[in-house]
Amino acid sequence: MSRIELDPGKPEPSADTGKPPVQTEGGQPGADAHPSEPASPGGDQTPAGDSPSDADQTKGGGNADGQQTGDQPSEGHDEGGSPPPPADEGPSDATLIAVGDVMMHAPQLPGAYDARTKTYNFKPFFAQVKPILEQGDWTLANLETPIAGKPLGLSGYPRFNAPPELADALKYAGFTTVTNANNHAMDRGAQGIAMTLAKLQALGFDTKGTARSKAEADKLTIVTHNGISMGLLAYTYGTNGIPLPKEQPYAVSLIDEQAMIRDIGRLKAAGADFVTVCLHFGTEYQTMPNDAQKQLARALVAAGADIIAGSHPHVVQPYEFAEVTNPDGSVRKGLIIYSMGNFISNQRGNTKDYGVIYKVRIHKEHGLATIGGVATIPTWVHRTTVKGVSRYAVVPVADVLAAKSLPDLTAADYATLKSTYAQVSKRIASMHSVPVQLQAAP
Ligand SMILES: [Zn+2]
Repeated sequence: MSRIELDPGKPEPSADTGKPPVQTEGGQPGADAHPSEPASPGGDQTPAGDSPSDADQTKGGGNADGQQTGDQPSEGHDEGGSPPPPADEGPSDATLIAVGDVMMHAPQLPGAYDARTKTYNFKPFFAQVKPILEQGDWTLANLETPIAGKPLGLSGYPRFNAPPELADALKYAGFTTVTNANNHAMDRGAQGIAMTLAKLQALGFDTKGTARSKAEADKLTIVTHNGISMGLLAYTYGTNGIPLPKEQPYAVSLIDEQAMIRDIGRLKAAGADFVTVCLHFGTEYQTMPNDAQKQLARALVAAGADIIAGSHPHVVQPYEFAEVTNPDGSVRKGLIIYSMGNFISNQRGNTKDYGVIYKVRIHKEHGLATIGGVATIPTWVHRTTVKGVSRYAVVPVADVLAAKSLPDLTAADYATLKSTYAQVSKRIASMHSVPVQLQAAP
């Protein structure tokens, strides 16, 4: 597939097909100045529509308790994608892929419903990006809804609850890891969290950010591929004003800088080669990070985090590199992604229907893991509506533009897609050329 290679000095071993990359065009200066729209605090803009009421819950088969408890890191399974590490522990590489918010607004349901089997099939959402997502050794998404299904009542905005089949579609798409620390985590309370985790873990996902027990909340998540161990953390700024259960204050991991720094330290002490922190933060519909985002993300990187994977604003924000000077003078590179936008949703306009897939190469040599090439692949939610029923597909924009592969789009649609793609690409790349300089925190 084509993609924008933003760190061309470090070509990735997993070369893609020879299609020429679509060039990012200049775009207009200030292209990101959007007409303001009413932003509901902590909410998503699409009003809830009618949802089918006769959906059955899919039972998550298998063992729902896939999590290990205690402080033992869970070893990841190598599902392929990259060669196994050399026996002599020589250099090795692995690929981290991350996307933004996976949402389920009510209009997304009817087109995925099969009245004959009374089940949902959301796999078409992801079919066109599956070949990209499958290239990740760790492939992460933020699941911005409980998936407790009909037993707890299906609903869209403002309090979400989606069919559990969404998890099956994420599995099909190639995701390995689902984070749940976001402002919609409590939309169906502790029961919704428990049912969501049970379904995800029955499918073999690594999960982070919500928990059914103190032990689960405290468990270190370290997943190893090709001899490279990633420690994973996930936190959210809040839960839309829904209080955490008094007896379960650990149910959702909330942003708390000092606690997060301790968690990063615990992961490193337990052997994580690098640490990825998923942060649900920022201001909705703001196309640039605010000061609080910058302060927190940079503080965590200074304290030992290597990658910050941001989400929540529902639009993409830029990424930046950090150069962290250690006490011995050596420099560690960090990657801060402020927002990856909506991966799938019913939100439209002002680039809310755009997201980005990050593909990050991790290289390990002489026992030290470093961040290598970073590729960004802008995506768009293609929506077609026939007789009031909408169907959705996440598509890699550059590929669609190169091949004109969506037959329902008019020439004017393609022109809009092209100019918005240029605008989004320019925004994503607008901060990375000057790395932020940090001193390692003790
Ligand atoms: Zn959110």
